[in-house]
Formats: sequence, C-alpha cells, structure tokens
Amino acid sequence: MEECFSCAKCCKRYRITILPEEAEKISAFLNIPKEKFLEKFCEIKEINKIPFYVLRKIHNQCIFLDNNKCKIYPVRPYQCKIFPNLGSKFPFCKIQKEIFTDPLAYIVWEKYKEYVKKVREIGINALFQSQC
Ligand code: SF4
Ligand code: SF4
Repeated sequence: MEECFSCAKCCKRYRITILPEEAEKISAFLNIPKEKFLEKFCEIKEINKIPFYVLRKIHNQCIFLDNNKCKIYPVRPYQCKIFPNLGSKFPFCKIQKEIFTDPLAYIVWEKYKEYVKKVREIGINALFQSQC
C-alpha cells in the first residue's frame, strides 16, 4: 500500500525544520562544519513564535532536491522520513497510508517537544552550539 511515486511534491511544498542532531548528521554527511551547513543550507524561521532552522528553498523547492531526488537521502531530516504520517491528509501525495501509523512519528513528535522546551530555556543559538 505504501508506494512513493517520487513526484517530489512534498519536497517542494514544505519548509523542512532541522533539529540539532540532524544538523550534526547532515553536516557530517556533507563533510562540512555544522556552522557552514547552517549558514549555507538553512535559515531561521519562526513557527508559532518558536525559532527553527529550516532548509533553504531554491526555485520553490528544497535546496537538496535535484531532478526529483534527495541529495542527502541517507540522512534526510525526520520530517522527510515520516511524511506523510503527521498532520492532516495530503491529497497531492500518492502514498495511500494511514496517518499516525508510523512509530517513528511519535518519537519525532517527542523530539520536537523537547526542542521547543530547550529553545525556550536557552535559545536556538546556544542549543545548536551545545551539540558540538
Ligand atoms: S531534504 Fe531531501 S527529502 Fe527532505 S525535502 Fe529536501 S530533498 Fe526532499
Ligand atoms: S508527495 Fe508523496 S508520493 Fe510524492 S514524493 Fe512525496 S511522499 Fe512520494
């Protein structure tokens, strides 16, 4: 039942948030310092008044999308991994799976709750630095 048709609409529609542990993994995969990754590939956006690093978009699509393929697929962010398992139904997505069925979605949800708590406590800059 689950089958991704690689239409890449999900990579074009959304801003993908980056958690500190993801910044570590992706920068290691790209073999660049984390600070460089954040500067070159991310920008800060407020979502519900909470600052997040999000992947930049170029020409209305994720900066890592190339010919409808993800250039960082092995280390793609959680949001990409669990799509379309959180939130509402996505009529543009050809995957026909039940939402809220992926155990990883619950783990990721907890990670985001922890992120928000820590950002409120120490701020986004200190939080991303503290993971060095
Ligand atoms: S990181 Fe990869 S999977 Fe995620 S939105 Fe960007 S191109 Fe798509
Ligand atoms: S929108 Fe759905 S079918 Fe299209 S690439 Fe994304 S996950 Fe796959």
